Formats: sequence, C-alpha cells, structure tokens
Amino acid sequence: MTQEAADLLGPLPPGMVRPIGRVRLYGPSLRYVDLASRRYRFFATDTPALMAWMTERARAAGAEVMLRTAFREGAQNSGSVQVNGGKFTARLLIGADGGRSAVARAFGLPGNRRFLVGAEWACPLTTEPEALHVFLTRAHAPGYIGWAVPGPGHLQFGLARLPGAPVDLPAFWGFAAPALGLPERPEVLGERRGVIPVGGRLDPVYKGDVVLVGDAAGLVSPLTAGGIHTALAFGDRAGHLAADYLTAGGPHPGPALARAYPRFRAKGLSRRAFEALPDAALDALACLPALAQGAFFTRRRV
Ligand SMILES: Cc1cc2nc3c(=O)[nH]c(=O)nc-3n(C[C@H](O)[C@H](O)[C@H](O)COP(=O)(O)OP(=O)(O)OC[C@H]3O[C@@H](n4cnc5c(N)ncnc54)[C@H](O)[C@@H]3O)c2cc1C
Repeated sequence: MTQEAADLLGPLPPGMVRPIGRVRLYGPSLRYVDLASRRYRFFATDTPALMAWMTERARAAGAEVMLRTAFREGAQNSGSVQVNGGKFTARLLIGADGGRSAVARAFGLPGNRRFLVGAEWACPLTTEPEALHVFLTRAHAPGYIGWAVPGPGHLQFGLARLPGAPVDLPAFWGFAAPALGLPERPEVLGERRGVIPVGGRLDPVYKGDVVLVGDAAGLVSPLTAGGIHTALAFGDRAGHLAADYLTAGGPHPGPALARAYPRFRAKGLSRRAFEALPDAALDALACLPALAQGAFFTRRRV
C-alpha cells in the first residue's frame, strides 16, 4: 500500500508491514531506472495479519464482526433495510463488498464494468531485492504492470492485466526472474487472485438507505489501479457520517459521500493513453527518471 494509506492506519504492530523506499522500474527490454525517496515509502503487507488486526480494532470499538456471513439479498421499505430474507434489519446499509458488489446488484445500483484481473504469488525470500520492482510489459501485463516486492515474510510476485487472456504468472516469472536473481523455477507458497475495477467512480452511489464505498463504488484510480487509500479514507468518512445520521439526527450520508467521491476523469483518459503505448514508448518511460520519480513518489489526496 501507499504512504497515504499507511498514514491513515497509523502505527502498526511490528512485522505486519515492510517499508520500501526504492523503486526499480523496468521497460519491456528489461532496461531499468532506479528511483528513491527518503520521505515517501511503499508498504508491503502481511495482508491476512493486517486484516485480522483491523478486525480486532473494529471489535474493540464496539462493532459486531460476523465472518463467513455473506450478503445474499436485500430489500428496503420505508425506514429500514432487510438483509437475507429479514435475518438482519438495519436503518442504513453500507455496501463495502468489493468490485463485484452483491449489495449494488440487489438494490439496483450500478456495478463496475471495466476491470483488470490480477494474481500474486507468495514465494520464499530467497533473494532480497530490497525495492519495489515494477515491470512495464505488454506481453505479460497489458494495461498495467507486473511487480516483485519483498514483503514482511515472503517475496510477493504478481501482475495485473486487462482481461482477454489469463494471468500467466509462470510466464511472467520466466521473464522477470533472471533480472531479479531468482531461481529458474518458482516455489509458490500461496496465491491470491482478484479483480480491480478501473472504469472509474459509479453514479449513483446510494439509493434510499443503501450506500456504496470502496471498490463497490468504483473508487479506484483508473490509472494506478490503487484502491486501498480511497477505500480506507471514504470508509472512515462513511462511518462518521453514518454515526451522525443514526445517533445525532445528522444528514443522510449518501449525498455528502456522492459529493466527496473523486470522479477520476483525467486518470480515466490517462489510462486509455497508457493502454495504447507501444513497447518502445514503455521502454522510453523506464528511462525518464524525473517523470517516473513524480509518478511513484508524489503524495496524493483523495
Ligand atoms: C492482486 C491485487 C493487487 C492489488 N494491489 C493493490 C495495491 O498495491 N495498492 C492498492 O491501493 N490497491 C491494490 N489493489 C486494489 C485493492 O485491493 C482494492 O482497491 C481495495 O482492497 C478495495 O477495498 P474494499 O474494501 O472496497 O474491497 P475489498 O478489499 O475487495 O473487500 C471487500 C470485502 O467484501 C467481502 N464480500 C464480497 N462479497 C460479499 C458478500 N456478498 N457478502 C459479504 N461480504 C462480501 C469480501 O470477502 C471482502 O472481504 C489490488 C487488487 C488486487 C486484486
């Protein structure tokens, strides 16, 4: 995750994240440029441990967290929302259920339509490429990037790409491993897969007493495909607005969030341009330190 997202979380228990202040950016020919910052860090995470820690913090703050309990269907009538055939009733439902939101579907809100597909392996830290290694390669990751980063316990090796062909991590390993000094054959200890919505923010993002946040609302930068910072920032804002609405007679959170959510118009256009760049242009990008430095190490507000 980015520095901005880590700042929102505050101090984390030791061993849960690994700060990385260097980026090595490779073009399709594997020519690269090294970038560094003393003030801005990326944070490789032990994601299951971080999720468990956040869950405990939510419980400690008074939330009842029900794991392995899926939202399946819902309906709303004046003043209340029923979930799963009336098993749960609420005055306000916040759909934070990701890029393929079932909440959005159930309540007739729009869903994301443009995605990247991504996958990441956890591998042993056989070498320590102490940088976030970023690969621009249309052959393996058209429309996005591949990456290798030493996490708190493992090497995280992955890519995301436009759909149309499967995510081929073995082929990407064959391409990137020699540049990283990694063994010819990967030892895969774990794998995660997912989709990243990159079509931009959805509209509307609420209907009656149902409100969407995070990936469910399309709050992912279409260019960087980063959604953790916006999910945390607007999840926090949605929580405060909901508390004010439910306990202090404050305004409905929907309109306030709809006004605050970014539209990502310029980033959507930049994505289209990036997708069209030929290999020669990607190689040129990987040789422009000033441009690359700004792209990786600029603080962004939501
Ligand atoms: C491979 C990969 C790498 C990524 N890397 C980065 C990165 O480096 N930086 C970055 O900023 N972003 C990254 N992203 C994007 C980032 O993960 C998301 O933008 C972010 O997690 C969005 O948070 P969210 O809470 O909105 O959704 P999610 O993190 O998707 O969480 C949604 C939750 O809802 C649950 N859920 C789904 N359906 C239901 C249901 N019916 N009932 C109950 N619960 C349900 C899911 O199990 C999940 O726990 C990456 C995505 C992928 C796939």
